[in-house]
Amino acid sequence: MRAVSYAAYGQAPILGELPAPPCPEGGVLVRVAATGVCRSDWHAWLGHDPVPLPMVPGHEFAGTVASVGAGVTRWRVGDRVVVPFACGCGRPSCAQCRVGDTHVCPDQTQPGFTGWGSFAELVAVQAADTNVVAMPEAVGFVEAAALGCRVATAYRAVTSVGRLAAGEWLVVHGCGGVGLAAVMIGAALGARVVAVDVSAAARAAALEAGAEAALEPGEGLVAGIVAATEGGADVSLDAIGSPAVLGNSVRSLRPRGRHVQVGLLLGDAAEPSVPMGAVIARELEMLGAHGMPARDYAGLLELVLSCRLDLARLIGRVIGLDGAGAALAALGGPPAYAGVTVVDLSQGTSDG
Ligand SMILES: [Zn+2]
Ligand SMILES: [Zn+2]
Repeated sequence: MRAVSYAAYGQAPILGELPAPPCPEGGVLVRVAATGVCRSDWHAWLGHDPVPLPMVPGHEFAGTVASVGAGVTRWRVGDRVVVPFACGCGRPSCAQCRVGDTHVCPDQTQPGFTGWGSFAELVAVQAADTNVVAMPEAVGFVEAAALGCRVATAYRAVTSVGRLAAGEWLVVHGCGGVGLAAVMIGAALGARVVAVDVSAAARAAALEAGAEAALEPGEGLVAGIVAATEGGADVSLDAIGSPAVLGNSVRSLRPRGRHVQVGLLLGDAAEPSVPMGAVIARELEMLGAHGMPARDYAGLLELVLSCRLDLARLIGRVIGLDGAGAALAALGGPPAYAGVTVVDLSQGTSDG
């Protein structure tokens, strides 16, 4: 199969021929139609988040079932599917998988991290009956790709974890893929949204996606958020993953507000200091969001199919598999495109 891989951390990912992964027992092989280029892949590529080598990156993808392993009952070859990036083990003995919390299963697998990912024509998915989600015909593969990671993560962070209600104030720090999706989801759910980003293009995209205000981070950011939200955020997301952003997010919450950590805090940032005085005095909640289980996709797909969430607006650019390695490496620099970069595997060559 054609696949992009790297043999050492930081070495340029290259496109070549690799053996197709075997179809796992209880799992499926998915023929990848489209896959997003996400910052988590960039962290793995640089070894911030260690992975076995050589690695094929890619963990947010949509496609069709190419082969079905022994014991799988829900899927047939040709089914259109999307797969959440964190796949539960699916074993009846697993307390998390038994209740549908597959995204926090202690024995979870993640394509692109625990095994080869979706910058390839084929990707193996474990425990298919537990993890795979049917993708309606009405959603195109390029749009569906971001449902495996960023849009799903944003949806769960805002709804199940943040418990955002209509009329409440949502503040989103960082309006890349996951943040921009959170802005759109918050607006679609009837919340009032304020976006924060260093990039003027990202702020403009957030305003177009439904934010009422878009602020540039700096000295007066906390006061600016409190003013813009008439007293502070009800729900605030750190969609970047930085101790400074986390601190600003917590400090700009109103009493009983909820901070949701979405961006990964890795390396030196793994154990940041938190303004706990504010957490106690205002009875704030500190929450974490880690993807979304297959179980929760129904609500998200409902938002998409009812046209309240336009996935196409999240797509910054579409490239071919030959451009995927360079697009991954470029995630370390300032964003050249607002929104998500998606690799369309039906595209032979690209300008990316
Ligand atoms: Zn991701
Ligand atoms: Zn499990």
